[in-house]
Amino acid sequence: MKINLKELPQGRKVISVVLEREEIGIKEHERDFELIGDVKTKIVLIKSRTTVNVEIEIDYVLRLQCSRCLELFEKRYHEKEFFVFREGEEKLQKEKSLSEDDIYTYFYATEEVDLSPLIRDMIILSVPMKPLCHSDCKGLCPVCGANWNEGSCEHKGKLKPVTKLSRLLEFKDKLPG
Ligand SMILES: [Zn+2]
Ligand SMILES: [Zn+2]
Repeated sequence: MKINLKELPQGRKVISVVLEREEIGIKEHERDFELIGDVKTKIVLIKSRTTVNVEIEIDYVLRLQCSRCLELFEKRYHEKEFFVFREGEEKLQKEKSLSEDDIYTYFYATEEVDLSPLIRDMIILSVPMKPLCHSDCKGLCPVCGANWNEGSCEHKGKLKPVTKLSRLLEFKDKLPG
């Protein structure tokens, strides 16, 4: 998703594109998620003399694994982020102090900037630390592994559900040494 900022006319320009997973640099199976289908993108560019303000809006579906019941589920996301591109040398960036406003400031010395890495970061940052299939997911029985969303077992009500973390700890305890 390359945009030529130098040739971009002054003023406002809106670009709507549909990007495929490969174009954004996302693998078919990422560690914590899968991107399902394409990413709908709306980009608003506002150019003044030496600055281009870029608003990126994206729509996409992720397949995640619930951290409680371990089931896979799909969720639609809508994210929006602002970036500022300023004409100049890239090294200037390091001389600036990192205030809240400067976090998304990029300098462009070349004519074209690639927005794909920014879109990739937006998607990766939207992946929750502990995904939940539903906010009230009941989890799995730690004894028999029954999915308490689907039904009950003799242990329900007496024990806390197992979580991904407790499963990992359990596994670690079983490792030799
Ligand atoms: Zn769940
Ligand atoms: Zn049980």
